[in-house]
Amino acid sequence: MNISKLLEICQKNIDSNVEFLNELDQKIGDGDHGTNMARGFKALVAKKDEFQDKSISQILNECTMILISQVAGSSGPLYGTALMKAGAYLKDKPSPSQEDYVNAFRQGVEGIKMRGKSQAGEKTMLDVLEPAAAYLEQNISTKDIRELMPHVVEQAKKNADATADIIATKGRAAYLGERSIGHIDPGAYSSYLLLKSFNEYLEG
Ligand code: ADP
Ligand code: MG
Repeated sequence: MNISKLLEICQKNIDSNVEFLNELDQKIGDGDHGTNMARGFKALVAKKDEFQDKSISQILNECTMILISQVAGSSGPLYGTALMKAGAYLKDKPSPSQEDYVNAFRQGVEGIKMRGKSQAGEKTMLDVLEPAAAYLEQNISTKDIRELMPHVVEQAKKNADATADIIATKGRAAYLGERSIGHIDPGAYSSYLLLKSFNEYLEG
């Protein structure tokens, strides 16, 4: 796994959606989600040379610290916790299998739920990440990750868009209650962009 390359693709997709993510966050939050994510990925990509020769688990741990310190806002600690949990899962697996990566992703999603005291159905990033983890878990034993990811990305976009129909009960958007209806959750959209980035990485 070439983490530097993956981070660069994530940065590209976040950078080209900064304004859009900020606009989404202006509707139901404080308008900074795009700026937060762009700052985080800029800091991650800046460290990419230091990631060479390190294990995936070590890299994820370093990325955790960078995200938590650089991304102001709740999304930094949430995505950071996901990386920390994934890194912990991969610690004793020097050459992880596809199943290991899927299990690590599941651990990351569980980390977000724990940190956010949240679950799918509450108009957050979990509405994209939880179904993605479930689909990968169900299918990874019979199919290659490259075959699965295009479907994951397609569902992620649909699920991000569908957050518009949900009343927010977590995060800043929860203050709006029913007025949060009609607006896509910014974190759900950034999670879609990250899954899309992973698929682009796999496509090479
Ligand atoms: P902040 O809300 O502090 O300004 P961001 O704007 O960067 O932070 O991120 C907001 C996103 O974080 C939301 O769109 C939502 O997807 C996600 N989020 C917020 N609180 C939670 C939570 N408790 N559980 C899961 N995701 C959450
Ligand atoms: Mg915000």
